[in-house]
Amino acid sequence: MSDLLLLCSCKRIFKTAPKQHLEPFLFECIGFTIKCIMSTTDKTKFPRVVIVGGGFGGLQVAGKLDGKPVDVLMLDKHNYHTFQPLLYQVATGSLEAESIAFSLRKNFSGQKNFRFNIAEVSKINPEKNTIETSIGEIDYDYLVIATGSTTNFFGNKDIEEFAMPMKSIPEALNLRYSILQNLEEATLKATKAEKEPLLTFVLVGAGPTGVELAGALAEIRNHILCKDYPELKKEDMKVYLVDFLPKVLGPFSDEASRKAYDFLTDMGVDVLLNVKVESYDGKVIKFEGGKTIKSKNVIWSAGVMGEMPGGLSKDIIVRGNRIKVDDNCRVEGTGNIYAIGDVAAMITNDTPKGHPGVAQVAIQMGKYVAENIMQTINGEPTKPFKYFDKGSLATIGRNKAVADLGKVKFQGFFAWLVWMFVHLISLLGFRNKVIVFINWIGSYISFNGGSRLIIRKFNREALASKDPQVSKTA
Ligand SMILES: Cc1cc2nc3c(=O)[nH]c(=O)nc-3n(C[C@H](O)[C@H](O)[C@H](O)COP(=O)(O)OP(=O)(O)OC[C@H]3O[C@@H](n4cnc5c(N)ncnc54)[C@H](O)[C@@H]3O)c2cc1C
Repeated sequence: MSDLLLLCSCKRIFKTAPKQHLEPFLFECIGFTIKCIMSTTDKTKFPRVVIVGGGFGGLQVAGKLDGKPVDVLMLDKHNYHTFQPLLYQVATGSLEAESIAFSLRKNFSGQKNFRFNIAEVSKINPEKNTIETSIGEIDYDYLVIATGSTTNFFGNKDIEEFAMPMKSIPEALNLRYSILQNLEEATLKATKAEKEPLLTFVLVGAGPTGVELAGALAEIRNHILCKDYPELKKEDMKVYLVDFLPKVLGPFSDEASRKAYDFLTDMGVDVLLNVKVESYDGKVIKFEGGKTIKSKNVIWSAGVMGEMPGGLSKDIIVRGNRIKVDDNCRVEGTGNIYAIGDVAAMITNDTPKGHPGVAQVAIQMGKYVAENIMQTINGEPTKPFKYFDKGSLATIGRNKAVADLGKVKFQGFFAWLVWMFVHLISLLGFRNKVIVFINWIGSYISFNGGSRLIIRKFNREALASKDPQVSKTA
């Protein structure tokens, strides 16, 4: 109440008080603001569920706890949720970053038991039930680790330094600026040899991300290059998709994989399979066996690894830097810490390598954990988590997609429509759905969608610096 009175009298005091009396008052205001911020970390009579990460999994946990007798605190290093499946369209300039992101505060604005803070969580202290964060130490009754994954360079420092990853919006924007700047620079070069590394794109990793990016780049070459850059020739731009596996879209059916390969090669992508990258120095990518390609555009989508705060025992971190959880999604050896989504490894007879790193796993685990927490609080029995595989979709380009929906497998135009529909309904926010839909219609009709602006200069040197903050967000 006194806080309320303090605020109400602010305006009057600022108008009437002499300057020397304002100073102590300002200090009191600052104290009040800090108190407001810290109130998110105060304890109430309800158990506190802290969710680290507002991705696909974290969103579900928080949403399913709406109206339940718990206090929910979500922490994320960004204040928005990222719809990663459309990152490649941000990177290739056909969508603006805002249309695939959604404010976490806005998403939960009507949820009374929900609080959010921007914070990077650095360490978990399971023995004290606290976490260390960039905004201080925070205690929890139940902790949900939903921190997702990051790019895995498999320890190759040179590749990490010079190749471009695409796991977040800042990285997708870096990639977009890098592509556009290299196209601009190519227009200034006189000879074919000088243009070659600027106009050669090498995508390492032929999973869905690599395939979708390769398709999008091929479409830029086939439909946009000569319109936007009349100085350049279509034949001068090369797109390579490479993988050490013998097929593209490894986890998909052979039928889908074969069709995706045909789509890509028809669009002019050079697909190199059974090829292992040896090194990349920012100019030349070398493969085992001696093959080399000159390129200033190497994009790495060959693997991910779990991203997590420190503090957990090394014994429970398994292959792919993931946290070993039991069939209740509980971190092994703990009673009140859960891990879900990309960061979790639930090793069972059915899933000896854990579940795949896809949005549906995170979504289903998120819903399950919210339920499990309430059952645990109420002393009710819990059931083990069971993943229901709804199938896989990947698009290669206009009218070209592949769909493996259980036993039903189809490719081409209808799969492309299904792909668009599923992605549209899965996007957060009505405005985003409308904007993306309009963009897609515009691109379909004009063959020339997106604005392709260089809003800020991309600086490779800053990215290549060893500072992890710069390399992630520059
Ligand atoms: C380019 C790309 C395309 C993809 N396409 C598809 C697709 O078509 N279909 C599909 O099913 N899946 C796809 N995926 C995979 C899918 O996006 C992931 O499986 C899914 O996002 C995992 O959800 P999550 O909740 O585990 O983590 P995420 O959604 O990654 O969320 C993790 C959150 O944790 C936050 N965070 C991380 N560390 C910290 C920390 N220390 N402190 C605070 N916050 C932190 C992050 O900021 C992020 O918001 C794609 C992924 C990528 C990168």
